[in-house]
Amino acid sequence: MPENGLHSSMSFESHGDQCERIQAILAATADGLIVIDALGCVELVNPAAAELLGHAVDDLLGREVDPQALLGLDEPFENGVAVEVARSEPEHRVLMVRMNRITGHDGEPAGQVISIHDITAEREAAVMKNEFVSMVSHELRTPLTSIKGYVDLILDEDAGEINEMQREFLGIVQENSNRLVSLINDILDISRIESGRVHLRVEPLEMNEIIQGVVDTFRAVAKNSEIELTWVAEDPLPRAAGDRDRIGQVLMNLVSNAIKYSPGGGSVTIRARQDDEDVVVSVHDTGIGISAEDQEKLFTKFYRVDSSLTRDIGGTGLGLSICKSVVELLGGDVGCESVAGEGSTFWFSLPMASCEIVRKPELEGPLESAGGLVLVVDRDPSTCELISTYLCKRGYEVEYAHSATEAHEKAMRLQPRAITLDVMLEEDDGFELLHRLKDDSRTRDIPVVVLSVVCDEGRSLRLGAANYLEKPIDQARLTRIVDDLVGGQEAPLVLVVDDDRSIVGAMSNMLRAKGFSTIAAYDGREAMAAIEEHKPDLILLDLMMPVMDGYQVIQEVKSSEETKDIPIVVMTAHRIDRERTDLLELAAEQLRKPFAVEDLVERIEQFLTEEA
Ligand code: ADP
Repeated sequence: MPENGLHSSMSFESHGDQCERIQAILAATADGLIVIDALGCVELVNPAAAELLGHAVDDLLGREVDPQALLGLDEPFENGVAVEVARSEPEHRVLMVRMNRITGHDGEPAGQVISIHDITAEREAAVMKNEFVSMVSHELRTPLTSIKGYVDLILDEDAGEINEMQREFLGIVQENSNRLVSLINDILDISRIESGRVHLRVEPLEMNEIIQGVVDTFRAVAKNSEIELTWVAEDPLPRAAGDRDRIGQVLMNLVSNAIKYSPGGGSVTIRARQDDEDVVVSVHDTGIGISAEDQEKLFTKFYRVDSSLTRDIGGTGLGLSICKSVVELLGGDVGCESVAGEGSTFWFSLPMASCEIVRKPELEGPLESAGGLVLVVDRDPSTCELISTYLCKRGYEVEYAHSATEAHEKAMRLQPRAITLDVMLEEDDGFELLHRLKDDSRTRDIPVVVLSVVCDEGRSLRLGAANYLEKPIDQARLTRIVDDLVGGQEAPLVLVVDDDRSIVGAMSNMLRAKGFSTIAAYDGREAMAAIEEHKPDLILLDLMMPVMDGYQVIQEVKSSEETKDIPIVVMTAHRIDRERTDLLELAAEQLRKPFAVEDLVERIEQFLTEEA
């Protein structure tokens, strides 16, 4: 409707000088501004807006426009809410746009003002910052891997006996390298969260168990600080949906702070309860407390309360901001209530687990390794030596390669049973090497474990890596992964199902010491998931379990053509459900609890040998 547009622009004309002045001000503004009149026509548009949107001023002025389409938004504007839009035409730009309605003297709608702020440079800087942080952390982690690894080995007396003074001094080195590792991890965590590269494994969590673990970890620290550490939890407490390691990390952070910021002793209490559809965990302390003003900023990066009380207490101000991001990514909330001088309560909530999410049980290889040659590919000689020490301790032989060409040649010639590969090679790209190994029929079947300081799990697995491990290398995890790849396949696999984790832990250890591989499941649904994925050679089954009990597991296993031949050994505690004894008859063997775990292992061994 050109007439309306003309009319709108004309109304400014009539104000003469004032209009010119407004035009001049708008032309000098770096942010884009568009005024739309009550009839939906562009009444004013400054050069910045036209340029940011890739139009000429004259194309827009006086035209009837749909603001949502003009800005390329997926959803209509909401009054006063800023939204981010990425545009690719005429060039790549990230814009922060916002619409505010205007009302006339009579209270009637008089149009809208749209402001456009260009944040392309800020976004690019953020990406560069994240890349920089990842790179620096990588460079720091490589030497740190060696420092930490060798100190651990010396303290384990792997290099010979050490005296008390050496132990004390090395203990200090160890403690500080651990601190450095955790600081670098925090920084990497933040940069991962900010760039959306964080991997969360959501599973149903027994919060009481996580709390118990954290309390055990801090018991000695609390005692040293003369703090009484206690926990109360509702029983029964529904399971929460979360990432086990991450939620453990969040709770450790809160408990560590509660102890740290209670310098004069006192008490720290952890509580867990159900609140509507959430599980809420709180950590209360009787420490120094936090003023209302500081409480608002606590969860922001690097924020630390600066007072005479906190100045001597070490910290980075990253912990709470990581807690907040992690919990929010998991769909929960965090918060704090506190009175300065009296103490604080920090809490977090997680949604209750729905029955659908089932933890994916992991396979654990036998304690005795199968041995054999492992090719270690890493540009850093001291890391090679360290990995080699870990693997040799476990009975493997090791060869090194420092470049892609050397690695490919050795893989072909030596046919190792597994390869560990750091993707950051001196001149070549480790991913390309991985691709080459998987593309070549002579090396395709050799399993490759990618070790890296940058988080490339997805890419590695896509390219055919058998597993992925982050640096600094955890000795136990590395050997477990290599064991799984090299020997795990041949060892008979026993699935241990019991809702009592200590029983599962004890039995799995015994079985692995006897050369079996094990998988642990803590209820019937987890058991079914494990059976489907790993096809165990034998199932050791408890009957009384939450979610899905042992009888149902027997029924499902025995009614499927694919699983009906897997022998099931049932462990019964007390009463047997008389109505369902027919199901029990399908089990290969029944054992009554309590029994000596060693006897059990022996019987399973006999049983499997007979079967074979
Ligand atoms: P850090 O403890 O490493 O400084 P955090 O992010 O964990 O970093 O905590 C940020 C700040 O919040 C701390 O520096 C401290 O001032 C304050 N704070 C955290 N927990 C407590 C607590 N339980 N009591 C008093 N102050 C706390």
